[in-house]
Amino acid sequence: MRMLEQKNVLVTGGSRGIGAGLVRAVLQEGAEVAFFYRQSVEAAERLCQEMADRYPDQRCLAMQCDVADTRGMQEAVKNATLELGRIDVLVNNAGVSRDAMLARMTREQWDEVMTTNLGSLFCATQPLALQLVKQGSGSIINMTSSAGIYGSSGQTNYATSKAGIIGFTKALSKELAEFGVRVNAVAPGFIATEMIDVMPEDRLRRMRLRIPAGRLGTTEDVAHLVCFLGSDRSAYITGQVIQVDGGLTL
Ligand code: NDP
Repeated sequence: MRMLEQKNVLVTGGSRGIGAGLVRAVLQEGAEVAFFYRQSVEAAERLCQEMADRYPDQRCLAMQCDVADTRGMQEAVKNATLELGRIDVLVNNAGVSRDAMLARMTREQWDEVMTTNLGSLFCATQPLALQLVKQGSGSIINMTSSAGIYGSSGQTNYATSKAGIIGFTKALSKELAEFGVRVNAVAPGFIATEMIDVMPEDRLRRMRLRIPAGRLGTTEDVAHLVCFLGSDRSAYITGQVIQVDGGLTL
């Protein structure tokens, strides 16, 4: 039996990068999916078409919305629930980086990262929490980063937001455990996506040398863990932060 058979998954930021990898992986594991994205309309449509061709009996729905917009997200989460019938797994994956040394960072760069990476956790999870409690089951998976655990120069905004995600994960896991709802965080190291593409080649080369596994991570590396955390095979795991980084942080 596939790991996510009979489960419905909601992924934020599913149009590209790790999120698109998650969409592919959860469908492969038997789930139906709705994903949110903000501006990559073509990529989202292409992904839905690819999934429809590959898994004609499973739904893959793309919904355009800003994960940091409280009202919009209430509506979007409600629509996703109505379309799929219920949500069993929420993956809070959408995120942005706006790197700068703090001395040169603008308030806009700080705010954008906080609102998108951290604000979205409230916006996407709050409307779903009661529903999951009533169901008596559910798995919430939050995408943090090794930067949120160890810090990262030039990323005070990003690292702060990702550290906040860890606090959110631990607090909410304590709130929801007795209702059968689990909350965990995944902390990728360097995964080959467009987010990494903006890094200077020289920094990337130095980073690669620091990874004991000798390579950047793939979106599949992250997706395999997310599928496990979304499935009942991880039924006794909650409140954890699990690193997927090829040993970068050893
Ligand atoms: P990408 O930049 O490749 O993709 C980001 C995704 O988030 C896109 O689908 C984008 O949609 C969506 N998104 C961004 N802002 C919003 C918004 N306001 N509303 C709705 N959707 C939004 O990033 P990655 O795939 O690399 O990263 C995914 C997650 O993993 C992030 O949280 C990131 O911080 C985390 N991470 C990534 C690492 C890496 O090495 N890549 C390392 C550690 C953590 P659209 O294109 O439509 O705007």
